[in-house]
Amino acid sequence: MTKIFSSGIDRLLKGAGFFYTWIRAGIIIGIIMLSVLCKPVMLSAASIDSSEPIKVVIDPGHGGENLGADHNGYLEKEMTMIVAESMRDELEKYEGIEVYMTRTSDVDMSLEERIDYAEEIGADFFFCLHFNMSADHDMYGAECWVSAFGECYARGMDFAKIEMRQLTDLGLYDRGIKTRLGSKGKNYYGVLRMGDLAGIPAVIIEHCHLDNYNDEPFYDAYDWPVRYGKLDATAVAMYYRLKSDELGVDYSDVEYDPTPVPVHVVRPDDSPPDNMSVVYGEPYQTEGGNWVDVELTASDPDSRMLYYSYSIDGGATWSERYRWQDDQGQLIGDSILTDTIHTAVPVSTDRDMYIIFKVYNLYNLDTVSDVYYLPKVVPDGDIYSEGSSDTQMSVGAGDVEYAEIDRGEADSEPAADAPLKNMSGPMLFGLIAILSLAILLVLVILIYVIVDNRHRDNRRS
Ligand SMILES: [Zn+2]
Repeated sequence: MTKIFSSGIDRLLKGAGFFYTWIRAGIIIGIIMLSVLCKPVMLSAASIDSSEPIKVVIDPGHGGENLGADHNGYLEKEMTMIVAESMRDELEKYEGIEVYMTRTSDVDMSLEERIDYAEEIGADFFFCLHFNMSADHDMYGAECWVSAFGECYARGMDFAKIEMRQLTDLGLYDRGIKTRLGSKGKNYYGVLRMGDLAGIPAVIIEHCHLDNYNDEPFYDAYDWPVRYGKLDATAVAMYYRLKSDELGVDYSDVEYDPTPVPVHVVRPDDSPPDNMSVVYGEPYQTEGGNWVDVELTASDPDSRMLYYSYSIDGGATWSERYRWQDDQGQLIGDSILTDTIHTAVPVSTDRDMYIIFKVYNLYNLDTVSDVYYLPKVVPDGDIYSEGSSDTQMSVGAGDVEYAEIDRGEADSEPAADAPLKNMSGPMLFGLIAILSLAILLVLVILIYVIVDNRHRDNRRS
C-alpha cells in the first residue's frame, strides 16, 4: 500500500518537475509584490482603516480662571480658543476626519476632564494648543512636548516633526521636540501622562512666546491665532494623509519615516553642555565701532545647543539670548547642528571688559565659560591699552570673583584720599555728621566763653 502511494507521488513530482521551479518562483515573486504593496500601511500607524473616520480632539489650553500666559494684553486662554476654532473649521474641510473640542467656551476644565472626554469619544489623537512665556522674558521660539513612552512617543514625534517644520518655515526659532519626566519617572505634563494611560497619543504645541520681541512678529497681529489654527490643521492633514476637495489639496502621498517605537523611556537631557570653549580674536575697528571676534564651541551628547548669551562685566549683567546660529552665512537648519559658531562682541571704549559666555542646550541647562579680560579701547584709534599689571588672561570659573570686581572699583577713578577709599557711603556720612557736630560744639563753647567774658568785663567796669 505505502509502496503504491510513494511511487504515485514520485510520478506526480516527475510530471510536475519542469513546472516546479516556476511555481516556486511565482510564489516568491507574489509574496514580494504583496509586501511592497502593503508597505505604506505596515510602516505607519497614521494610516488607518479607510472605512472608519479618524477622530481627533483639539484642546484649547487653559480657560476660565486659568488664564495661562498673560502679557501686554495677550491672554493665552483666549488665543488658544481662536487657534482651536480655526483649526477645527479648517480640518472639517477634509474628508475622513471627525473633529472634537474639549471646550468651546471660556470655562475652567481640569486636565483629567480633557483626557476623559477624549477617551469617551474614542479619540485617535489629542492636540493640546498653547502659547509660551518665560519668567525672565528672555526665551523665544516654538516647541512641542511629547510622551516619553512607547507608541505615544513614536506617533507624537511623527506629528510634531511635521508641525515643527510648519512653524519654523514661518521663521520661528526651533526649540525642538522634547520629553519631560516628573519626579516619579512618568511624563511631567498631565495630558501626556493621562493620554498614555488612555492609549491616546498627545502633543503639546507651544506656538511661540508672548513676551519676547523675537517672537513678536509671530503673534502681534489680530489674525495670527487664525493662521496658527490653519497651520496646525494642515499638519494634522499631512500626518493622516488626508485630502480636501473643498481646499483642493491632497496629502495622500506625503511621505515621512515613522519613528520607531522606543523600548525604553526616552529621557530628557539632564546635564549641561560639555566641551565648551571660547576663542577670542584681536580687537579691530570698523565704522560701526570696535569689535572682537569670537569662536564659540560647545557640544552635548544628549541634546543640541539652543542659545548663547554673554556678559562684559564678569557676570553681573547678561546680554539677551542669541540663536545658536552662525553669522558666517550658514542656514539655520545646518548651523543648529554645528558645535562651533562665530560671532563678534562690541569692545568698550570707556571700561575694561571681563567677558564670559554662556551656552544653553535644548533643555535650558547652561554652561559658563572662563572669564576673559579685555582692556578698554584707547579712544584715539587702533592702539589698544596694554593693561598695566594684569594683561589678557583667562582664569578658571572666576564668575563670582569678577562680579564683585565689577560692582566695586573696576571702572571708578581711584580716590585721592587713601583712608576714604575703602569707605562705604553710610560710613562716610556718619563721619561727616560727627565732625560737623564737633565743630558746632566747639563754636557754641567759644561763643559762650566770649559772652561770659564780656559779662564779667561789664560787671567789673
Ligand atoms: Zn499654556
